[in-house]
Amino acid sequence: MTKKKKDIALRYQELCDLINRYNFHYYELNAPLVDDAEYDRLMRDLTDMERKHPGIRREDSPAARVGGYASATFSEVTHDPPMLSLGNIFTDEELLDFETRCRKGVGGEGLRYSMELKYDGLAVEVVYEKGRLKQGSTRGNGEVGEDVTRNLAEIKKVPRTLSGAAPEYLSVRGEVFMRRDEFERLNNARLEKGEPVFANPRNAASGSLRQLDPGVTRERGLDAVFYATGRVSADRPIPDQMALFHTLPELGIPVSRHVGVGTLEDIRRFYEYWLENRHTLDFDIDGIVIKVNYFGIRDRLGATSKAPRWAVAWKFPAREAVTELESVDFQVGRTGIVTPVANLRPINIGGVIVKRATLHNFREVERLGVRIGDKIKIIRAGDVIPKVVDVIKHENGARGGAIIPPERCPSCGEALQREEIYLRCVNPECESKRLKSLKFFVSKDGMDIEFFGPELVQRLYSAGRLYTIADFYKITKEMLLEMERMGDKLADKVIDSINARRRVPLSRFLQSLGIRNVGGHVAGVIAEHAVSLKKLFDLSLDGLMKIREVGPGVADSVHGFLHDEENRKLIHEMISSGLVVEDEKVERTVKSAVSGKTFVVTGTLARFSRKEAEEIIKKMGGRTAGSLSGRTDFVVAGESPGSKLDRARELGVTVIDEKEFIAMIEGAHE
Ligand code: NAD
Repeated sequence: MTKKKKDIALRYQELCDLINRYNFHYYELNAPLVDDAEYDRLMRDLTDMERKHPGIRREDSPAARVGGYASATFSEVTHDPPMLSLGNIFTDEELLDFETRCRKGVGGEGLRYSMELKYDGLAVEVVYEKGRLKQGSTRGNGEVGEDVTRNLAEIKKVPRTLSGAAPEYLSVRGEVFMRRDEFERLNNARLEKGEPVFANPRNAASGSLRQLDPGVTRERGLDAVFYATGRVSADRPIPDQMALFHTLPELGIPVSRHVGVGTLEDIRRFYEYWLENRHTLDFDIDGIVIKVNYFGIRDRLGATSKAPRWAVAWKFPAREAVTELESVDFQVGRTGIVTPVANLRPINIGGVIVKRATLHNFREVERLGVRIGDKIKIIRAGDVIPKVVDVIKHENGARGGAIIPPERCPSCGEALQREEIYLRCVNPECESKRLKSLKFFVSKDGMDIEFFGPELVQRLYSAGRLYTIADFYKITKEMLLEMERMGDKLADKVIDSINARRRVPLSRFLQSLGIRNVGGHVAGVIAEHAVSLKKLFDLSLDGLMKIREVGPGVADSVHGFLHDEENRKLIHEMISSGLVVEDEKVERTVKSAVSGKTFVVTGTLARFSRKEAEEIIKKMGGRTAGSLSGRTDFVVAGESPGSKLDRARELGVTVIDEKEFIAMIEGAHE
């Protein structure tokens, strides 16, 4: 491989890793690490690379998959057909491309499109049988979502029984979201209770639905609109999107009031109108959605594995504002990286008062040429930490001042090291670093020690009781009772919660060490591969790099951390203080003729229900899909298989009957 090719392959892997990591934080933890604009930029880089160098495309490329997760906390629900994502466009030119593709695809002129708001919530499916709510689920990874029926039934707008002439079977799809006033109320209440606040209404909606207590969902005042159907029994055919928007309300199912149908020109007007007027809504939207109106034409255009070809989301640009840079602080993080943080003249961006924004690193400060007193542009997109993106006007007067990177750590005073684009404090004794890693250790992303908050860490540290992470396992009730505001009951709770974390699986242990670039997802991937702590220590740099989803940056930090003398001592000390790191439980799928193959089950089987057959396939390491595509390996056809059989023949996919399927699962183990 030439050096250039190698670099491209490396960058490609890195992008895949990064996007997978961001997906995990966004969909699974409801706590995005970057803003949506940055995420969309990375995704575009990835798709561009795949287009230019088709040879490098990974089968599990995040560009080809719907990005969510179905967490193990809930039972699984298979979506039939799968719930897809949407392609994104950002410019008028891309709108034209979309329209040209649609027209070419059906060889027609004058297509009409439905225009809708893009609600910033989470996608759900609700199934009604004989007019009664039967099941509700999240989108998950598109094929399999989470069963949140009990929670969805608590949302007032989601009817439990349908009115009017309901079809025998109806699955509807839409968005659960939280209105802004409810979001404010919830966050204020959480602040008062000392609970962490949600970053934005989308996260709040997701966090309120994807938790186990229906009472919590009820209290959170969630809202819902529906804009699509999944499977519908043939007794009530719906020909197009506008007819859908008429039919659903007749059944008591809520739809958006802000919809329309039209041509390209109408779409542009709709977009401009909502870009200007979105503040008049009391909920968040992040763009508009354009769909070919007629369902018959949609069928002809089809879909990729990730998104329909007949619809697209035209996203709004990130929210921006201009303000003044008043001063810059230097913050030392857990891993010693010093980040310049801008203190701003407070400014309202999209309803939120922003006082601080990140400048990322000193290379970025240099690139922007930013000085104190400058007028700067801030964006707040996806609502994570706002960031400084541009300098609008330099302050040349007396107040203007350069931002000079510190030479010494602002916390401990040690000389800082330059590492690529970062300045880093490498002093293991640095107080700021130490405190941040101690606080991280007890946090949700670390060991998740329930009654050990950051404030208690600070107090025990100041009292000289806590210095390294090994000290957590040496804390006694007596030590706690020496602290002010610590009663007997609370002390017991703290000790119990430490004890509850004396036995942890390797993945949890690895993620709480706070190693640079290693969050929960990556820790899980590495732990599954290594299985035991001993084997983890034995892994070479190369060995680490061979693990899927582990790029050179991650491998380097894990290897560096585990082979550092001090860190090794610390880990031994934790173990001798009673910490047990259990081997990672890895569910091994039986190698069979089924494993790695994609199946579509259709028609009525005699021995199992369709769902059972699909579960068997999954248990044996195969995949199931609701609709046929070029990636389908087998169609399992029961009685009355319907149109899928014709489609399978068209695509040349092998069709097997129930007998052959049973032979395959029973007899074909390798
Ligand atoms: P998406 O949100 O861009 O679009 C698809 C979704 O739009 C659908 O699943 C549905 O839930 C929703 N939707 C809202 N109104 C709709 C309507 N009227 N009709 C149809 N669908 C409607 O796609 P996605 O796959 O859910 O997420 C990808 C996007 O999420 C990215 O482009 C990015 O902006 C964001 N994201 C951000 C991060 C991050 O770290 N910041 C990580 C992952 C994803």
